[in-house]
Amino acid sequence: MKKIIIAGNWKMNKTQKEALKFLQEFKSNLEEVNGTREIVLCAPFTALGIMSKSQYGGGIRLAAQNIHWEDKGAYTGEISGAMLTELRVNYVVVGHSERRQYFGETDETVNLRMIAAQNHGLTPIFCVGESKSQRDAGETETVIINQIKRGLVNLDQSNLVIAYEPIWAIGTGYTCEAIEANHIIGIIRSQLLNKEVSIQYGGSVKSSNINEIMAQPEIDGVLVGGASLDPVEFARIVNYQ
Ligand code: PEP
Repeated sequence: MKKIIIAGNWKMNKTQKEALKFLQEFKSNLEEVNGTREIVLCAPFTALGIMSKSQYGGGIRLAAQNIHWEDKGAYTGEISGAMLTELRVNYVVVGHSERRQYFGETDETVNLRMIAAQNHGLTPIFCVGESKSQRDAGETETVIINQIKRGLVNLDQSNLVIAYEPIWAIGTGYTCEAIEANHIIGIIRSQLLNKEVSIQYGGSVKSSNINEIMAQPEIDGVLVGGASLDPVEFARIVNYQ
């Protein structure tokens, strides 16, 4: 059965102190939710250790925001799978458009990072999405299918989450119409060997649009950026009906 995964991507936000404060407030706003709904926080590396030890961390899964494909060595600024599993991290975000845009990630390095994640028992959250100019040129399907094909080479599809994140909808306030996101996610699923992979939508998700997004049959969860920084707002998203 497909898992519903509601993930918050904090990006380069929150110190350890702020992360603990968030957990406390978030937990007190959480309603009893259906057991099949998984909550994931993609925190900065520096906050992961303290969050996994926090008394408020129970029931919340942690994700890192990067992983290197080598196990150790001269890779200044990178992080290995073993360093993450030691902190009881379960997921790792790979291929986020900000990594592709600002840090030179390619489909090939994204693929290597995801293979490393799986080799360490971590589940990659594989982000794909088209830019505004690609969308305007009618290239959305081709771009997404290419990202999926190249990213998934030699990957185990039984340990994978995919996030469809149209770049033009990230941090802009423009949400992709739920029906359009559902359609693209259906196309992504048609490319997979394992049809049970959970596929999320990401891009300006808020408590005001979560119900409509989650009502779509192909959408198995959301990856939330800005709105996940506020514990009350993120709890409202997780508590969706
Ligand atoms: C993201 O960066 O993954 C994202 C979806 O951001 P936002 O929700 O702020 O658009």
